Amino acid sequence: MKDFDAAVIGAGPAGTTAAIALARRGLSVLLVDRCAFPRDKVCGCCVNCAALRELAETGLGDIPGQLGAKPLREFRLYCGNLVRSLPLPGGVSVSRRVLDAALVDRAVASGVTFRQRTSAKLGSSEKNHRTVLLRCGDDQQTIRAGIVLAADGISGSFLAGDPPIVAPRSYMGAGTFIPMEKVPRNYRAGTIYMACATGGYVGMVRIEDGSFNVAAAFCPRTMKIAGGPGAMATRILAQAACEAVPALRDAPWHGTALLTRRRRQLGEHRVLLLGDAGGYVEPFTGEGIAWALASARLVAELALEPWTHHTVARWTQLHHQTIGRRQRLCRAVTCMVRRPKLLGFLMRLSDGLPGGNFMMKQFNRGVACPRM
Ligand SMILES: Cc1cc2nc3c(=O)[nH]c(=O)nc-3n(C[C@H](O)[C@H](O)[C@H](O)COP(=O)(O)OP(=O)(O)OC[C@H]3O[C@@H](n4cnc5c(N)ncnc54)[C@H](O)[C@@H]3O)c2cc1C
Repeated sequence: MKDFDAAVIGAGPAGTTAAIALARRGLSVLLVDRCAFPRDKVCGCCVNCAALRELAETGLGDIPGQLGAKPLREFRLYCGNLVRSLPLPGGVSVSRRVLDAALVDRAVASGVTFRQRTSAKLGSSEKNHRTVLLRCGDDQQTIRAGIVLAADGISGSFLAGDPPIVAPRSYMGAGTFIPMEKVPRNYRAGTIYMACATGGYVGMVRIEDGSFNVAAAFCPRTMKIAGGPGAMATRILAQAACEAVPALRDAPWHGTALLTRRRRQLGEHRVLLLGDAGGYVEPFTGEGIAWALASARLVAELALEPWTHHTVARWTQLHHQTIGRRQRLCRAVTCMVRRPKLLGFLMRLSDGLPGGNFMMKQFNRGVACPRM
């Protein structure tokens, strides 16, 4: 049995950056992911300025530029027959395929041991360590780690004993890519196009290779009635008076679990949860990567301290005060987005208000450099 100071489960932005932070502080770190890298992930692929700042503060700020990420300048919101455009204070679009692979490369360069195509299961609990069972094809291995960071994403079941609480009427996520030649010309690089209608919303952005990344949140029942994600996205674009993207209907879509979920406790003995595994809301404000990176930075600090009976409670409280605070704001925004009539009313009202489009700016807060 091999020993590590820390084992990190999941090589998304949360897991890789936590692993890097710990390795740089001299810990022996194992990073495990069940997928083969590079891999795609359903995501809007918008890295907002808070996320860019987190990357810069961990010395990873050069990565988006190296990957050819497209700078974001505009957020365009479509609802009913209304369109509103907001300038963005920063952020870039880059596919998760290349971003996550680059983060894994940096983790390996920082001394992290990386195992891909390996799924992890939580094993026994001892006073000074946890065991983790690793499975890669027919090979099985057990390792021991002083601390386990579970960054296994929204549908992660690493901490199976304490499942997340899924919000009633939660939307599900869905995503696809449209090749460059099938994207109508009016859709420019540097703009996030967001169409909202009854039963969901669709976000579209050009990524580093010019293709269109499409990510959506749908009411599962409405989507089923509409005839699937392609038909639902097409309908939302039509209802929101957003230019049609004919290739959406028959594109290969991927779905996610129900999105809005939280955890009562963010861990158990010698295990801490971070990133989406610790709770998620909805993608409308495009903050998930920033939450993942911020939670990795905070949890890595805590993981360096000696483990006590209070560690899980301290992490739960810290998360609640930092990432949880942003998630509650995002939840309030998404409640509004779910009501297209109310959203349209607010869009119209904001035009007539003195002081300009204050309300519109609230929609944009997620991409407007929040501090966590
Ligand atoms: C539709 C949609 C649109 C979004 N748009 C945006 C956006 O534009 N901007 C933004 O910032 N955020 C967005 N998000 C949110 C963002 O994708 C997530 O918040 C972010 O990926 C969380 O990172 P993570 O590291 O916690 O988890 P993930 O990136 O999900 O990584 C988890 C990893 O764990 C691995 N794993 C799971 N279980 C195991 C196991 N048992 N053993 C080993 N490995 C395991 C998985 O293979 C995966 O690689 C969006 C989300 C959705 C659903």
